[in-house]
Amino acid sequence: MLVDSGADVLMFGMGENTIVKVAEWMKSGKPFSECDIPGTCVMAKDAPNDAVVIESYEEIAKDKKAYARAFLTQYNQQDPVRGKRIAQKHAQRYLVQNKPPMPLTTKELDKVYALPYARKWHPMYDKEGGVPALQEVEFSIASERGCFGACNFCALTFHQGRIVTSRSKESIIEEGKLLAKQPGFKGYIHDVGGPTANFRHPACDKQLKVGACEKRQCLFPEPCRNVNADHSEYVDILRALRELPNVKKVFVRSGIRYDYMLLDKKNSLMNELVKHHISGQLKVAPEHASSNALKYMGKPDVKVFDEFLKRFKEANKRFNMDQYVIPYFMSSHPGCTLQDAVELAVYMKKNNLHPDQVQDFYPTPGTMSTAMFYTELDPRDMKKVYVAKNPKDKEMQRALMQYERPQNRQIVVDALRRAGRTDLIGRGPECLIPAFSAPQNKDGGKKQEGKKSAPRTTDKKQANDKRNQNPRGKKDDLRGKGKTHGVERNRKR
Ligand code: SF4
Repeated sequence: MLVDSGADVLMFGMGENTIVKVAEWMKSGKPFSECDIPGTCVMAKDAPNDAVVIESYEEIAKDKKAYARAFLTQYNQQDPVRGKRIAQKHAQRYLVQNKPPMPLTTKELDKVYALPYARKWHPMYDKEGGVPALQEVEFSIASERGCFGACNFCALTFHQGRIVTSRSKESIIEEGKLLAKQPGFKGYIHDVGGPTANFRHPACDKQLKVGACEKRQCLFPEPCRNVNADHSEYVDILRALRELPNVKKVFVRSGIRYDYMLLDKKNSLMNELVKHHISGQLKVAPEHASSNALKYMGKPDVKVFDEFLKRFKEANKRFNMDQYVIPYFMSSHPGCTLQDAVELAVYMKKNNLHPDQVQDFYPTPGTMSTAMFYTELDPRDMKKVYVAKNPKDKEMQRALMQYERPQNRQIVVDALRRAGRTDLIGRGPECLIPAFSAPQNKDGGKKQEGKKSAPRTTDKKQANDKRNQNPRGKKDDLRGKGKTHGVERNRKR
């Protein structure tokens, strides 16, 4: 962007401190080519002496291996404490990416969130009836920044960083009081969270001193033994918020990192969430069930999700409640094969999971997964990675996640045949779809001209499927449909 736009400077990250420093730099009259402000990129005649020089733009544009190598070097330096500047030659000049900015301290964050925000859309939108997206966040509190989960498909690490910092309890309570006085407040705080709701502090004590580890992740493949998984401060804040005058309920709608939650020996957040902070449905993101796909995503093994589901059900039982988990799953992530997609469908069937919406992988700039998608290599070991890119392959993976839907029947049959899993077509308890049924038109209805009529049981099943998809005849119904069986439409990330 910087090269193409011809701008003097590009800022990345959250920017509150960076923009002030850039303004001071401009005032000083110094050339931007010498700028070393964290959180900026500039163009320079030469690579700075302290920069790590990666493969040139011209090299990576013609060689995917060079692209993968350049990506990994850059990826490894994205830490405000231990990271180094990166320089990349573009024709006769160098693009210099300075270190990422340090995350704001608690004091700085409190100051940012204490500013007198209008909390309303700009009046220019009045004539269009406002900004509907504001409803989602109008009565929500952003309590922290950063994420040490480091899922490979997520770009958060690049704009907020792996070092989590958070607002003080006092600052959050002040905002809770303010929300309670806002016009239209009905007693519900919709969310208290951030990139990951239950990350409130750095993963370990050393992150702020020496940075996050370059060679390992905090929670993957197994949680690091240095991880501090204490949730007591978050629990304390949630309790204080729900005691505020005019507040009836405080919900947690940001994603929960359940693997981190399970590490907390006190199990305090689980009890608190189930009893007070779920509006009937809890969103979590196992993303897949196949170990192979999860490995490429950087997500924990599905056994961890199983354990979470078990404890979630136990907690519901303890409090005599009946709430649902809404799992997010993703198809066609780099590395995810058709066999993996079948494994996920079998897992869903076994666990009675029926997501209403599914997400197909799309490349987000700057992530490890995007580098794999583009190069079909894993930049960490340069091994070949299978990537479902062709529309038919992607369609099969996506359809398998909603194998019950009549409109997906033929695609699922084709997918199972291609995967050599016709054993999953039939009447057995593990089968995904029945063996005999009428051919479908593309809308899922039976073809009128079909000679062979479907067995009655299948007709019943299809009718049930249709009813379940749209139980009240509404376009988008938000009811949960079974034990761990939910629907949702507002995925945050
Ligand atoms: S020591 Fe462990 S918890 Fe700390 S940054 Fe490294 S991987 Fe993360």
